[in-house]
Amino acid sequence: MNYSGIGSNSEPGGPRFKVVEFQLQQACNVQCLYCGYEQEFSRTGDYLPLELMERTLVQDLGPCPPEWVWLEGGEVTMDDSSRAYLLQALELIQRLGIRSRINTNAQKCSPAFSRELARAGLSFACVSCDSTDPDLFSWMRGQKSTNSRELWEEFNHNVQGLLEAGITVDLEVTLNRYNTGELERVYEYVESFNSSNIMMGVQFLVATADHIFPLYPDPLTQHQALKNLLERAEKGTVPLRICCCSLVPCRYPDLYRPRKNVIWVGCTCGYNYVHVHATGHVFLCGFWDHRQPLGNLKEKSLVEIWQESRMRQESQVIRPQQCRDCKFWEGKYRCHNTCFAVVHRRTGSFHREAYGLIEEALNERK
Ligand code: SF4
Ligand code: SF4
Repeated sequence: MNYSGIGSNSEPGGPRFKVVEFQLQQACNVQCLYCGYEQEFSRTGDYLPLELMERTLVQDLGPCPPEWVWLEGGEVTMDDSSRAYLLQALELIQRLGIRSRINTNAQKCSPAFSRELARAGLSFACVSCDSTDPDLFSWMRGQKSTNSRELWEEFNHNVQGLLEAGITVDLEVTLNRYNTGELERVYEYVESFNSSNIMMGVQFLVATADHIFPLYPDPLTQHQALKNLLERAEKGTVPLRICCCSLVPCRYPDLYRPRKNVIWVGCTCGYNYVHVHATGHVFLCGFWDHRQPLGNLKEKSLVEIWQESRMRQESQVIRPQQCRDCKFWEGKYRCHNTCFAVVHRRTGSFHREAYGLIEEALNERK
């Protein structure tokens, strides 16, 4: 295998990450339908040691610090203990002059706590919002529908609190078979905050675990839903960010024409983004098969793990047949056979086309 040409991450100066993501804890206060994290194995109070995070950012990546550190759970704002831990982590990142983002469900992120987050340097919050219908919103979070209206009002209040604290908010839908009809309504909800500090995100579903495959929407419905959303956003007032889109440019070129307000985020996995679990395991991305870490920070440094991992190297150079000469592979949207986390999970290699595998999984469902 020829590993030449895998970019700046293999240069002697060490990896240049745009994003290093740390999972602070695995415990969560909701149970989203599509969650692939190991909530059942986690205990409240089990945190990623901050010394590991500090050592990685200061000693390991010190000469080439990342542009962003993202913090996530589980749920990083779920109780007093996790909120205090999150503030400590943010203060450390702030001291190092690195920008920070959290992923949160915002259910327990009160306006008062948002002000503390802002003081600790938080600039961006990615907040999950899979529907604007209170019952569907709560159901997709695994919550009881008896108090869904109350939960939705609390959520609204907390999103407003984040914005008032000066934190940029990305309200993010994870697209699955139950919310393809919700996209435009979420976009309009995001617009209704009337803020220049808010945007909408669409995260395409990634099958980290077996139980997630049946949740994929069928491609026709998914395509139509995204098309309608893109047309709505083009006439809208807030940005729309689309991540890990499984409707690849070679099959759906119409989706990718440049449009006002639309930002495509291609696959950064294995390239300039890395995910660290609360266990210290390092993964190619947060959606990677959790049985296949590249290594563990308790045993080796991030730079060593990154540079020595054969799986990462292979992920950057092996292309399925139909992607060989594709201009999108490392192009503007870095398609990279989106999503090769799915390919590796299903086949143990990087040779197959992701889209075909998702179609196969859908056919198995029929
Ligand atoms: S990289 Fe592969 S999957 Fe992506 S657009 Fe090109 S041919 Fe299609
Ligand atoms: S492999 Fe790439 S496309 Fe798939 S989930 Fe990870 S970052 Fe997204």
